[in-house]
Amino acid sequence: MFTEKMLKRFRDTKNIGDLKDANARSNAYNSECNDYIELNLKIIKEKIVNAKFMVHGCPGVISTTDVFIDLIKGKSIKEALTVTIDDISKALGGLPLDHWHCANLPMEALKRAMKNYKTVLIGVSGGKGGTGKSTVATALAYGLAKNKKVLLVDADVGCPNDHLLLGIERKLLKIVDQRIPAWDLSGCKQCGLCGAVCKENAIISIKKKDPMFFSSQCNGCGACVLKCPEQIISWDKKEIGEIYIGSKYNIDLLSGELKSGEPIAEIVVSSLNEIVEEKKDQYDYVIIDTAAGLHCDVIAALKKCEFALAVTEPTPLGEHDLKLLIQLFEKMKLDAGIVLNKADVGNGQLIENLAKKYNLNILAEIPYTKDIVKKYSNGKPIEHQSITNLIKRLAL
Ligand code: SF4
Ligand code: SF4
Repeated sequence: MFTEKMLKRFRDTKNIGDLKDANARSNAYNSECNDYIELNLKIIKEKIVNAKFMVHGCPGVISTTDVFIDLIKGKSIKEALTVTIDDISKALGGLPLDHWHCANLPMEALKRAMKNYKTVLIGVSGGKGGTGKSTVATALAYGLAKNKKVLLVDADVGCPNDHLLLGIERKLLKIVDQRIPAWDLSGCKQCGLCGAVCKENAIISIKKKDPMFFSSQCNGCGACVLKCPEQIISWDKKEIGEIYIGSKYNIDLLSGELKSGEPIAEIVVSSLNEIVEEKKDQYDYVIIDTAAGLHCDVIAALKKCEFALAVTEPTPLGEHDLKLLIQLFEKMKLDAGIVLNKADVGNGQLIENLAKKYNLNILAEIPYTKDIVKKYSNGKPIEHQSITNLIKRLAL
C-alpha cells in the first residue's frame, strides 16, 4: 500500500527528467519488481549542484527517488552518501515496510554514480612534430565542448599553438620560476667541488679561482648546494616560463610557454599539472596536448591522463615514432588509441600493421583536405566527420 504522501509526490514529482550537463550518471535495477532508475548528477567541486532521474517503476520508487534527490541536492558527495532510508521515510512522512526496497534503488544508483564520477583526462601525443597532434587536440576539444565542459591544456610548452589554432587570445596567469643556486663568494675557499659535481656543466670552477655559474645550463638539481663544504651556496630563482589562460567556443584554455633558451620544459608542464589538479573537477574533460617525442615533458604531461591518443601519419617515419610512443604508453600502463592523420596520403598499411601488433585500435582516420588545411592556417576550429566518429568511438 502506498501512503497518501507517497501518492501525492508520485503525482507531483520535482526531479524527473534528463540533465544535459550531468557529469555523473548511473542506473539501478531491481529484478524482483522490474523497477529501473537512471540517476544524473551535476557535481562541482565535490558538491551535487543538480540532480534528475529517469524511471520505469511503481509510485513507490518514483516518490522515494524524487524525495531522495531533494535530500542530496546541495550536499557534498560525502554527505549525500550518508542519506539513509530513514531520512527518505521521514521526508515522506513514513514509508511502509514493503516499500523500503524502493528507497534502496536511488541509494544504490548514487553509490554507483560516485564510482563512475570523475573528470576524464585524455592526452594527445605524437611521436614526432608535425603529425597534427595539436589539430586533433583542438578539434576534439571543440567537438566535446558543444555539450560538455572542456579544459584544453597546451602542454607543448616549447611551441604552444593551440591558442593560434582556435584563435584564442591568451592572458597571463602566472610566471613559472625555477630554483637556481646563488653563491656568497666571500666565504668561498675555491676548492672546485661545486664545479666537479655539476653534471650539467653549469659551473666552471677551477681551483684557486671563484666558480663561474651559467644559469641557462642549470636544472636546479641541488648537487652543488649539498656538496659545498663551506655551505655558502643558497637558493635563488629565475623565470623560465609563463602560464596563460583563455576561453572561446565554450573551451577553457590553459597554455604553458617555456622561455626561449630555457632547457627544462617539464618544470612548466609540472606547473600546468598543479593547476589542472586544482581545476579539473569543474570539467567533464581535460584534453592535454603534449609535446612531440618522448622527453621528460611529454611523460610529465601524460602522467595525469588515463587515456592517450597517439597521432601519427602513414609514413615510415610516422610508423617508427609511433612505435616508440606506443612503447612509452605501455611502460606508463596507459590505455591508448591511434589517430591517423593525412590518412589518404602515404601507406596506411604501415600503421595498420603496427596497430595490430600492439593490439591498438585506429580510432580515427583524418584525410588531408583543402578545407582542413584552410581552417588550420586561419585559426579556425576543425570540424570533420572523423572527429565526430572519434568522440563516438571513445564513448565520450
Ligand atoms: S643546481 Fe645542479 S645543475 Fe644547477 S649548478 Fe648546481 S649542480 Fe649544476
Ligand atoms: S664548493 Fe663551495 S667553497 Fe668550493 S668552490 Fe664551490 S662555492 Fe667555493
